[in-house]
Amino acid sequence: MSAAHPHASKMDNPYFPHLFTPLDLGHTQLRNRIIMGSMHTGLEEEKNSVEKIKAFYVERAKGGVGLIVTGGMAPNWSGRLAPFACDLIWPWQVAKHKQITEAVHAAGSKIALQILHAGRYAYHPLAVAPSAIKSPISPFKPRALTRWGIRKTINDFVNTALLAQKAGYDGIEIMGSEGYLINQFIVTKTNLRKDEWGGSFQNRIRFPLEILRKTRAAVGKNFIIIFRVSMLDLVEGGSTLEEVITFAKAVENNGASIINTGIGWHESRVPTIATQVPRAAFTWITARIRQEITIPIVATNRINTPDVAEAILRENEADLVSMARPLLADPEFANKAELGRPSEINTCIGCNQACLDHVFAQKRATCLVNPYACYETELTAKPLITSQQIAVVGAGPAGLAAALAAAKRGHRVTLFEKENSIGGQLNIARQIPGKEEFNETIRYFTTQLALSTVTVKLNTEATAEVLNQFDAVILATGVKPRAAGIPGEDNARVLSYLDVLRHKKPVGKRVVIIGAGGIGFDVAEFLAHTEEERDTPTWLKRWGVDREYLNRGALLPQRTAETSNREIYMFQRKSNKMGASLGKTTGWILREKLKKYRVRMQSGVEYKHITDDGLEIVFKQQTQTLMADNIVICAGQLPLLELKNKIRVPVYLVGGADKASELDAKRAIRQGTEIGLTI
Ligand code: NAP
Ligand code: SF4
Repeated sequence: MSAAHPHASKMDNPYFPHLFTPLDLGHTQLRNRIIMGSMHTGLEEEKNSVEKIKAFYVERAKGGVGLIVTGGMAPNWSGRLAPFACDLIWPWQVAKHKQITEAVHAAGSKIALQILHAGRYAYHPLAVAPSAIKSPISPFKPRALTRWGIRKTINDFVNTALLAQKAGYDGIEIMGSEGYLINQFIVTKTNLRKDEWGGSFQNRIRFPLEILRKTRAAVGKNFIIIFRVSMLDLVEGGSTLEEVITFAKAVENNGASIINTGIGWHESRVPTIATQVPRAAFTWITARIRQEITIPIVATNRINTPDVAEAILRENEADLVSMARPLLADPEFANKAELGRPSEINTCIGCNQACLDHVFAQKRATCLVNPYACYETELTAKPLITSQQIAVVGAGPAGLAAALAAAKRGHRVTLFEKENSIGGQLNIARQIPGKEEFNETIRYFTTQLALSTVTVKLNTEATAEVLNQFDAVILATGVKPRAAGIPGEDNARVLSYLDVLRHKKPVGKRVVIIGAGGIGFDVAEFLAHTEEERDTPTWLKRWGVDREYLNRGALLPQRTAETSNREIYMFQRKSNKMGASLGKTTGWILREKLKKYRVRMQSGVEYKHITDDGLEIVFKQQTQTLMADNIVICAGQLPLLELKNKIRVPVYLVGGADKASELDAKRAIRQGTEIGLTI
């Protein structure tokens, strides 16, 4: 790779020199190489949300990001993602956007508007596409665009770009990847047209290039146009490497200022952003395309720390790095990195639980580790009248969040933890293969505690006598595993999930897991996992990604099989889908993984007895005994509340201690923060 690329960085910042080299785009400069990638938040569609959107972006601009790309806006009605999804079509919409761009500029960043036409991914009956082929992820079959419709759509893109320019945006991003309309034109799988917009590759790329050419002609040269190119489609019948290279060169020659990387269509069965994906797993393709073009290129996907971002730039794999979720997790990411304080960064753990899963459920996005995200104007501290002595019991996510928020407001906080380290359930989660990012959350809380006024007492069991000397107590004592209530559950071969994950008790070769919630899946993954598969080439191969790019869509003809040296069964009593409670964007990955490990998952099972041989069950009216070395109970939790009735001062319950049935770090951190801000 050539180090003499025209946008190679120089070295001024002592900590992350490449990341904090400005980028000169001729007519304008970006203050550093950090782009906040486009992310739909749901605020866009809320009524009277300008102040909230403004606050959300201004926090990130103040936090030092070089360029913000907004959530995708449709250029016309048929291009909307959902019936009431956001668009930028009419001149009267400009005033609202102007408020946002002015505020971001005043805070020191640049901002570009993403134009996204959903094509056949639209979740409404007006969907259009190059050809009338239904996508697997929307129930609506699209109508094939007429030739007039194509011309009109091109003009609509130009119209939106001009409105964005009027609204004060520094540029636009044309969304050409992830399987949306433009991508659908490029690939034969979704483009069966026989006219000048289909057939040969030159015809299939005509639509994006016309959009680009006409947009550039309309906006003039002093306006940033980012074009997001799908570099790996990761679907059968996707583009070849040669096609991607030819297209990227054409994008450069037709007026783009920057090329952004798109990885995988939404319907692809390869994880591309989930926590299981190794960090920076796809930058090799950005590096490859960079060799073919001269305009700056952006690396994306699972870049979540300044170290990773710096390495990408240092290794000349890209000229800029795009981070969307990491900027949700910590708006001050850039400033903290620039000042050499990376350990203070609240790192995105790639869980999708509060961002993408919310958006798919039509809820406002936020962040599991940062509940302030998208609630900047709402989740605010109540003014403190008197500083109180507050005891927080339990240093799991709820207790940590409560202690920090209360201390920041001026309370004198003591945090009691009976174990020798902080983290609570996070310490269990982080041991699950693919969930190592939880280590970062523990590191973040450790740093923040050290910077705070909280007095931390580890190895200390708080007694009622001690707690009653405080003004108020926040009980974040967490949960204990719930027994399943199966006759014979006291048999020596029965283990709780804590026996396996925390106490590391030996587990035999044939295992039955009772319960298929998040913990059941975690235990199955933990027990089935045998090999190190976090190195990027191995991981890519296992998920069928063709790094040699010998096949269309960069997919291998076959995925490598997983091997497990255990025979694992996982049961639930309900007759619905296994793992129905898992996140929408990640549940399929966990299910797929366990299938690859040949874990036998069965719903609708009735448990009878546990004996010295194993477990007797009734399934489809047949009684059978499953021989098992161990039976692991993952049947939910009960709150740990022994202290509650002995406390005479005001007491507040947070996290699992409040609702064990909804034990989850997202709720715990949010609830802890809310108590800390209001107590
Ligand atoms: P859970 O999601 O409530 O699942 C409990 C499982 O135990 C269910 O499959 C349930 O199925 C079964 N069960 C309940 N009572 C039982 C009984 N008396 N006997 C036998 N089986 C019983 O609880 P969890 O798995 O402990 O997870 C707790 C929380 O942690 C979840 O809310 C989740 O948010 C979070 N979490 C999520 C993930 C993730 O998304 N990857 C991972 C870990 C934890 P049946 O009643 O049908 O038998
Ligand atoms: Fe990252 Fe999870 Fe927060 Fe989304 S919810 S930004 S994936 S930490």
